Amino acid sequence: MQLYNSATRKKEEFIPREAGKVSMYTCGPTVYHFAHIGNLRSYIMEDILEKHLRFTGLDVKRVMNITDVGHLTSDGDTGDDKMLKGAKREKKTVMEIAKFYTDAFFADCAKLNIKTPDVVEPATGCIDDFICVISSLIEKGYAYEAGGNIYFDTGKLDKYYIFNDFKEEDLAVGVREGVEEDSNKRNKADFVLWFTKSKFDDQELKWDSPWGVGYPGWHIECSCISMKHLGEYLDLHCGGIDNAFPHHTNEIAQSEAYVGHEWCNYWFHVHHLNTNSGKMSKSSGEFLTVSLLEEKGYSPLVYRFFCLQSHYRKNLVFSWDNLDNAKLTFNKLIAKIAPLTTEAAGEIDKAEYDRLMNGFVSALDNDLNTALAVTSVYDVLKSTANASTKLALLNEFDKVLGLDMVETAKKFLEAADDTSDIPAEVMELVEQRKAARKEKNFALADELRDKISAMGYEVKETRQGTEIIKL
Ligand SMILES: [Zn+2]
Repeated sequence: MQLYNSATRKKEEFIPREAGKVSMYTCGPTVYHFAHIGNLRSYIMEDILEKHLRFTGLDVKRVMNITDVGHLTSDGDTGDDKMLKGAKREKKTVMEIAKFYTDAFFADCAKLNIKTPDVVEPATGCIDDFICVISSLIEKGYAYEAGGNIYFDTGKLDKYYIFNDFKEEDLAVGVREGVEEDSNKRNKADFVLWFTKSKFDDQELKWDSPWGVGYPGWHIECSCISMKHLGEYLDLHCGGIDNAFPHHTNEIAQSEAYVGHEWCNYWFHVHHLNTNSGKMSKSSGEFLTVSLLEEKGYSPLVYRFFCLQSHYRKNLVFSWDNLDNAKLTFNKLIAKIAPLTTEAAGEIDKAEYDRLMNGFVSALDNDLNTALAVTSVYDVLKSTANASTKLALLNEFDKVLGLDMVETAKKFLEAADDTSDIPAEVMELVEQRKAARKEKNFALADELRDKISAMGYEVKETRQGTEIIKL
C-alpha cells in the first residue's frame, strides 16, 4: 500500500517491520466531554485504514490510550486542566467524568461502525510505567528537574522539528493568548513530563513519585502506552493533524531518547473538519455530536458515508446542506442495492469479481482514496455480473467501508413493503400519481412526483412495483 507519511512528507510504500504484522497506535480521546464529529472524522478514517490493512491480509494490533488525567486545554503545559474543568461543570468527580465520557465515546464509535482497538488503555492505569520511563530519561540526561516539575530537555536532541510544517515563531511562548512563559524551561520547546507544582489547587488525581506527589504530562502517556503494548518499535502512528505539533513531535523526542533508536516509521494524520466559519471545536459555534445528528434525523452511517466521500488529507467542510446531499446519495445507493438482495442466485462470475475487487483494493492502496473506493461500489452496480456476484462484492467491500450497505438495503425493502410510516397525504398523492400514469397523463404524474418529493419522499417505479423512499 502507498501511504502518505507526514514524517517524510512523501507517499511511501507501507512496509511493516515484521512481515505480515502491523503495530498501530492511535491517540485516544480526552474524556471530559462528548466527542464532536470533527474528532470522530479522524477515528473514522483511522478505522478505514486499520480495516483495509486487515482486509489485505495483515495482522494488525492496534492500541489506543484514554486521556483521563490532566491534559491541559492548550497543547503546551499551560491553560486549564480539561478533566478538572469537566468535573466542575458537571459537579462530578474526575473519575466519574472519565467513566461517563469514555462510555459515551465508544457508544458513538459503535454507531459509526468504528471498531474498538485491540487494546484500550486509560492513562491512570499506567502511572508506574510513566514514572519508570521518566526516571530513565533523567538518568540518560534527557530530563531535568526545575521548580518542582520534571521537564524534557529538547536541547539534547540532534533533531526535534520532525513535523516542521510549523514556523519557528509558533514555538515562542507568550505569543498565543493566555500562554504564560514558564521560566523553569531551559529551552522554549521543553515540555513537562511530571508536574508536582500544579497551578490547580484542587487537582484531584495525584500520585506519589520520586519527585513528589503530582501527575504526568500529556505527551508521556502515548509514548509509554504504545511501548507497553507494542514494544520499542512502532509501524504506524495515527492522529488528527492538530496533534502533529507539539504532541507527536514530543512523543517522538521522548520515545527515541528512551529507546535510543528510531521509534515509529509511518505517521498518518487526518485533516480538519471545518464549518463555514472555520475549524470545528467544542468551544465555538454549534457543538456537533453524533446524538445531535440523530436528533436531526441523520443516521450516523450517513455521516460516515459523508466522510468517505473526501480524502483524509483534505480539510472537509461540514454543513447541513452537505450532509443532506450525502444522505440523499446514500439513500439512492441503498435503493439501488435493495433489489439485489432478493435476486441473488447463481454462481459467482469469477472474472468480473476479480476485476471489480482489484479496482476497490487499488483505490484504497493509493493513500486510502476512500472516494474512489465508494466509486467502486457504483462500478459493481453498473457491472453486467449477476446479482450474486454483486452482492458478494458489496459484502466484502463493506468489511472496510463499514456502511452496512446490504443490511440497510434489506431493511429498506422491508420498510418499502410497509407503508404504515408514510403520511396519509403522501400515500394519497402516490395513488393519484398511479392513476395518472395509468391514464398516460405523464405531465400530471410528474407534477405529483414533484409534490411528493417536496414532502420529503421519492417515488419510483421498479420491477417490484411502486417504491416510496423517505429522503
Ligand atoms: Zn498521543
